[in-house]
Amino acid sequence: MGLVSAKEMLVKARNEGYAVGQFNINNLEWTKAILTAAEEAQSPVILGVSEGAAKYMTGFKTVVAMVEGMLEFLNITVPVAIHLDHGSFEGAKACVEAGFSSVMFDGSHFDIKENVQKTKEIIEFAHARGISVEAEVGSIGGEEDGIVGGGEVADPMECKMIAELGVDMLAAGIGNIHGQYPANWTGLRLDVLGQIQDATGKMPLVLHGGTGIPTEMVKEAITLGVSKINVNTELQLVFAEATRNYIEAGKDLEGKGFDPRKLLKPGSDTIIENVKEKMELFGSTNKA
Ligand SMILES: [Zn+2]
Repeated sequence: MGLVSAKEMLVKARNEGYAVGQFNINNLEWTKAILTAAEEAQSPVILGVSEGAAKYMTGFKTVVAMVEGMLEFLNITVPVAIHLDHGSFEGAKACVEAGFSSVMFDGSHFDIKENVQKTKEIIEFAHARGISVEAEVGSIGGEEDGIVGGGEVADPMECKMIAELGVDMLAAGIGNIHGQYPANWTGLRLDVLGQIQDATGKMPLVLHGGTGIPTEMVKEAITLGVSKINVNTELQLVFAEATRNYIEAGKDLEGKGFDPRKLLKPGSDTIIENVKEKMELFGSTNKA
Protein backbone atom coordinates (compact mmCIF):
# COMPACT_ATOMS: atom_id res chain seq x y z
CA MET A 1 0.00 0.00 0.00
CA GLY A 2 1.31 3.47 -0.85
CA LEU A 3 0.91 6.59 1.24
CA VAL A 4 -2.60 7.45 2.41
CA SER A 5 -4.08 10.57 4.00
CA ALA A 6 -4.69 10.40 7.74
CA LYS A 7 -8.41 11.05 7.29
CA GLU A 8 -9.72 7.53 6.69
CA MET A 9 -7.50 5.92 9.33
CA LEU A 10 -8.62 8.45 11.95
CA VAL A 11 -12.32 8.28 11.14
CA LYS A 12 -12.07 4.49 11.51
CA ALA A 13 -10.15 4.87 14.78
CA ARG A 14 -12.69 7.38 16.08
CA ASN A 15 -15.60 5.05 15.26
CA GLU A 16 -13.94 1.96 16.68
CA GLY A 17 -12.55 3.57 19.83
CA TYR A 18 -8.78 3.42 19.45
CA ALA A 19 -6.02 5.88 18.52
CA VAL A 20 -3.37 5.86 15.79
CA GLY A 21 0.15 6.78 16.88
CA GLN A 22 2.11 9.56 15.25
CA PHE A 23 5.78 8.76 15.69
CA ASN A 24 8.22 11.47 14.64
CA ILE A 25 11.10 10.54 12.37
CA ASN A 26 14.59 12.02 12.35
CA ASN A 27 16.56 9.86 9.95
CA LEU A 28 16.60 6.61 8.02
CA GLU A 29 16.95 4.36 11.09
CA TRP A 30 13.96 5.97 12.80
CA THR A 31 11.77 5.65 9.72
CA LYS A 32 12.75 2.04 9.04
CA ALA A 33 12.17 1.05 12.69
CA ILE A 34 8.72 2.67 12.88
CA LEU A 35 7.56 1.15 9.58
CA THR A 36 8.88 -2.27 10.68
CA ALA A 37 6.97 -1.98 13.97
CA ALA A 38 3.74 -0.98 12.20
CA GLU A 39 3.96 -3.93 9.81
CA GLU A 40 4.73 -6.39 12.61
CA ALA A 41 1.84 -5.01 14.68
CA GLN A 42 -0.45 -4.78 11.63
CA SER A 43 -1.26 -1.24 12.72
CA PRO A 44 -1.89 1.94 10.72
CA VAL A 45 0.81 4.53 11.41
CA ILE A 46 1.50 8.24 10.95
CA LEU A 47 5.10 9.34 10.43
CA GLY A 48 5.46 12.81 11.95
CA VAL A 49 7.97 15.22 10.43
CA SER A 50 8.71 18.60 11.99
CA GLU A 51 10.09 21.34 9.77
CA GLY A 52 13.35 21.15 11.72
CA ALA A 53 13.62 17.37 11.18
CA ALA A 54 12.81 17.80 7.47
CA LYS A 55 15.60 20.36 7.17
CA TYR A 56 17.95 17.92 8.90
CA MET A 57 16.92 15.19 6.45
CA THR A 58 17.65 17.61 3.54
CA GLY A 59 14.12 18.63 2.69
CA PHE A 60 10.50 17.52 2.30
CA LYS A 61 11.15 15.85 -1.07
CA THR A 62 13.94 13.71 0.36
CA VAL A 63 11.61 12.58 3.15
CA VAL A 64 8.86 11.60 0.71
CA ALA A 65 11.29 9.76 -1.58
CA MET A 66 12.86 7.90 1.35
CA VAL A 67 9.52 6.79 2.78
CA GLU A 68 8.13 5.75 -0.61
CA GLY A 69 11.26 3.74 -1.32
CA MET A 70 10.97 1.98 2.05
CA LEU A 71 7.28 1.16 1.62
CA GLU A 72 8.19 -0.69 -1.55
CA PHE A 73 11.42 -2.28 -0.37
CA LEU A 74 10.03 -3.45 2.98
CA ASN A 75 6.71 -4.59 1.42
CA ILE A 76 4.71 -2.48 3.86
CA THR A 77 1.01 -3.38 3.60
CA VAL A 78 -0.43 -1.27 6.48
CA PRO A 79 -1.77 2.28 5.93
CA VAL A 80 1.02 4.88 6.29
CA ALA A 81 0.71 8.68 6.28
CA ILE A 82 3.55 11.24 6.19
CA HIS A 83 2.37 14.17 8.25
CA LEU A 84 3.93 17.59 8.79
CA ASP A 85 4.08 18.27 12.54
CA HIS A 86 3.43 21.86 13.76
CA GLY A 87 3.72 23.31 10.28
CA SER A 88 3.98 26.97 9.43
CA PHE A 89 1.66 28.37 6.75
CA GLU A 90 4.42 28.24 4.10
CA GLY A 91 5.71 24.89 5.35
CA ALA A 92 2.28 23.27 5.08
CA LYS A 93 1.89 24.42 1.50
CA ALA A 94 5.38 23.23 0.61
CA CYS A 95 4.65 19.78 2.07
CA VAL A 96 1.44 19.45 0.09
CA GLU A 97 3.46 20.17 -3.04
CA ALA A 98 6.28 17.81 -2.05
CA GLY A 99 3.98 14.80 -1.71
CA PHE A 100 3.17 14.59 2.01
CA SER A 101 -0.19 12.88 2.54
CA SER A 102 -1.17 14.94 5.60
CA VAL A 103 -0.22 18.29 7.16
CA MET A 104 -0.66 20.10 10.41
CA PHE A 105 -1.00 23.85 10.27
CA ASP A 106 -0.28 25.23 13.72
CA GLY A 107 -1.89 28.65 13.90
CA SER A 108 -2.35 28.49 17.67
CA HIS A 109 0.03 31.41 18.23
CA PHE A 110 -2.17 33.70 16.10
CA ASP A 111 -5.36 35.20 17.48
CA ILE A 112 -8.40 33.04 16.74
CA LYS A 113 -9.52 35.17 13.79
CA GLU A 114 -6.19 34.85 11.99
CA ASN A 115 -5.94 31.17 12.94
CA VAL A 116 -9.37 30.59 11.33
CA GLN A 117 -8.43 32.50 8.16
CA LYS A 118 -5.09 30.77 7.63
CA THR A 119 -6.42 27.31 8.55
CA LYS A 120 -9.21 27.77 6.01
CA GLU A 121 -6.71 28.56 3.27
CA ILE A 122 -4.59 25.51 4.05
CA ILE A 123 -7.68 23.28 4.08
CA GLU A 124 -8.68 24.46 0.60
CA PHE A 125 -5.16 23.97 -0.72
CA ALA A 126 -4.70 20.51 0.83
CA HIS A 127 -8.18 19.07 0.32
CA ALA A 128 -8.06 19.92 -3.39
CA ARG A 129 -5.22 17.37 -3.52
CA GLY A 130 -6.74 14.75 -1.19
CA ILE A 131 -4.44 15.62 1.72
CA SER A 132 -5.69 15.68 5.31
CA VAL A 133 -5.27 18.68 7.63
CA GLU A 134 -4.74 18.98 11.38
CA ALA A 135 -5.30 22.34 13.10
CA GLU A 136 -4.45 23.48 16.61
CA VAL A 137 -6.33 25.56 19.14
CA GLY A 138 -4.79 26.59 22.47
CA SER A 139 -1.04 26.13 22.29
CA ILE A 140 0.56 23.01 23.71
CA GLY A 141 3.17 23.61 26.36
CA GLY A 142 6.87 22.95 26.23
CA GLU A 143 9.35 23.30 23.43
CA GLU A 144 9.53 21.23 20.25
CA ASP A 145 12.01 22.04 17.51
CA GLY A 146 12.01 25.73 18.32
CA ILE A 147 8.20 25.89 18.62
CA VAL A 148 7.44 27.03 22.15
CA GLY A 149 3.92 26.74 23.51
CA GLY A 150 2.58 28.22 26.72
CA GLY A 151 0.48 25.21 27.74
CA GLU A 152 -2.93 26.83 27.50
CA VAL A 153 -6.21 25.02 27.88
CA ALA A 154 -8.22 25.39 24.68
CA ASP A 155 -11.59 27.14 24.59
CA PRO A 156 -14.17 24.56 23.39
CA MET A 157 -16.04 27.24 21.42
CA GLU A 158 -12.86 28.19 19.53
CA CYS A 159 -12.36 24.47 18.84
CA LYS A 160 -15.85 24.37 17.36
CA MET A 161 -15.04 27.33 15.07
CA ILE A 162 -11.95 25.63 13.70
CA ALA A 163 -13.61 22.19 13.48
CA GLU A 164 -16.43 23.63 11.39
CA LEU A 165 -13.93 24.83 8.77
CA GLY A 166 -13.63 21.17 7.76
CA VAL A 167 -10.35 20.11 9.37
CA ASP A 168 -9.82 16.36 9.52
CA MET A 169 -8.34 16.30 13.03
CA LEU A 170 -7.98 18.83 15.79
CA ALA A 171 -5.21 19.31 18.34
CA ALA A 172 -6.39 21.12 21.45
CA GLY A 173 -4.29 22.07 24.45
CA ILE A 174 -5.62 20.29 27.54
CA GLY A 175 -2.65 20.70 29.86
CA ASN A 176 -0.44 18.38 27.77
CA ILE A 177 3.12 19.45 27.07
CA HIS A 178 5.92 18.46 24.72
CA GLY A 179 8.95 16.72 26.12
CA GLN A 180 9.13 15.24 29.60
CA TYR A 181 6.47 16.12 32.16
CA PRO A 182 7.60 17.92 35.33
CA ALA A 183 7.12 16.15 38.68
CA ASN A 184 4.45 18.67 39.71
CA TRP A 185 2.36 18.20 36.53
CA THR A 186 -1.33 18.13 37.43
CA GLY A 187 -2.49 15.85 34.61
CA LEU A 188 -4.69 16.16 31.53
CA ARG A 189 -7.81 18.30 31.74
CA LEU A 190 -10.14 15.45 30.77
CA ASP A 191 -13.14 17.60 31.75
CA VAL A 192 -12.18 20.12 29.06
CA LEU A 193 -11.51 17.29 26.59
CA GLY A 194 -15.08 16.10 27.16
CA GLN A 195 -16.40 19.62 26.47
CA ILE A 196 -14.31 19.87 23.30
CA GLN A 197 -15.69 16.54 22.12
CA ASP A 198 -19.25 17.75 22.75
CA ALA A 199 -18.56 21.01 20.90
CA THR A 200 -16.89 19.40 17.87
CA GLY A 201 -19.10 16.36 17.30
CA LYS A 202 -17.27 13.31 15.99
CA MET A 203 -14.08 15.18 15.12
CA PRO A 204 -10.98 13.01 15.68
CA LEU A 205 -8.96 14.79 18.39
CA VAL A 206 -5.17 14.76 18.65
CA LEU A 207 -3.16 14.42 21.84
CA HIS A 208 0.30 15.97 21.53
CA GLY A 209 3.08 15.35 24.04
CA GLY A 210 2.41 11.62 24.43
CA THR A 211 5.65 10.98 26.36
CA GLY A 212 5.02 10.05 29.97
CA ILE A 213 1.26 10.51 30.24
CA PRO A 214 0.02 7.77 32.63
CA THR A 215 -1.53 4.86 30.71
CA GLU A 216 -4.90 5.11 32.44
CA MET A 217 -5.13 8.76 31.43
CA VAL A 218 -4.25 7.86 27.84
CA LYS A 219 -6.99 5.23 27.76
CA GLU A 220 -9.55 7.62 29.17
CA ALA A 221 -8.58 10.31 26.65
CA ILE A 222 -9.22 7.78 23.85
CA THR A 223 -12.74 7.17 25.17
CA LEU A 224 -13.25 10.97 25.01
CA GLY A 225 -12.49 11.20 21.28
CA VAL A 226 -8.68 11.22 21.04
CA SER A 227 -7.90 9.31 17.83
CA LYS A 228 -4.28 10.34 17.24
CA ILE A 229 -1.49 10.45 19.81
CA ASN A 230 1.89 12.03 19.08
CA VAL A 231 5.01 10.39 20.46
CA ASN A 232 8.43 11.93 19.91
CA THR A 233 10.63 12.50 22.97
CA GLU A 234 10.14 9.00 24.36
CA LEU A 235 11.70 7.38 21.27
CA GLN A 236 14.64 9.77 21.47
CA LEU A 237 15.22 8.82 25.10
CA VAL A 238 15.13 5.03 24.55
CA PHE A 239 17.29 5.31 21.43
CA ALA A 240 19.93 7.33 23.30
CA GLU A 241 19.88 4.94 26.26
CA ALA A 242 20.35 1.83 24.12
CA THR A 243 23.18 3.48 22.19
CA ARG A 244 24.88 4.61 25.40
CA ASN A 245 24.65 1.10 26.87
CA TYR A 246 26.24 -0.35 23.72
CA ILE A 247 29.18 2.04 23.90
CA GLU A 248 29.62 1.84 27.67
CA ALA A 249 29.78 -1.94 27.35
CA GLY A 250 32.68 -1.42 24.91
CA LYS A 251 30.82 -3.19 22.08
CA ASP A 252 31.99 -0.63 19.54
CA LEU A 253 35.55 -1.72 20.25
CA GLU A 254 34.88 -5.43 19.66
CA GLY A 255 35.49 -6.63 16.10
CA LYS A 256 33.59 -4.39 13.69
CA GLY A 257 31.29 -3.05 16.39
CA PHE A 258 32.07 0.47 15.21
CA ASP A 259 30.20 -0.17 11.92
CA PRO A 260 27.27 2.29 11.97
CA ARG A 261 24.90 -0.51 11.02
CA LYS A 262 25.92 -2.28 14.26
CA LEU A 263 26.34 0.85 16.36
CA LEU A 264 22.80 2.08 15.64
CA LYS A 265 21.11 -1.35 15.81
CA PRO A 266 20.37 -1.48 19.57
CA GLY A 267 18.69 1.93 19.37
CA SER A 268 16.70 0.91 16.30
CA ASP A 269 15.59 -2.36 17.90
CA THR A 270 14.47 -0.44 20.97
CA ILE A 271 12.37 1.89 18.82
CA ILE A 272 10.66 -1.11 17.20
CA GLU A 273 9.77 -2.57 20.62
CA ASN A 274 8.67 0.79 22.03
CA VAL A 275 6.46 1.65 19.05
CA LYS A 276 4.79 -1.78 19.20
CA GLU A 277 4.07 -1.25 22.92
CA LYS A 278 2.49 2.13 22.15
CA MET A 279 0.35 0.61 19.41
CA GLU A 280 -0.86 -1.98 21.91
CA LEU A 281 -1.68 0.75 24.45
CA PHE A 282 -3.45 2.90 21.86
CA GLY A 283 -5.46 -0.12 20.64
CA SER A 284 -4.33 0.13 17.00
CA THR A 285 -2.67 -3.31 16.82
CA ASN A 286 -4.32 -5.48 14.15
CA LYS A 287 -6.43 -2.54 12.95
CA ALA A 288 -4.62 -2.09 9.63
ZN1 LIG B 1 3.00 18.74 19.16
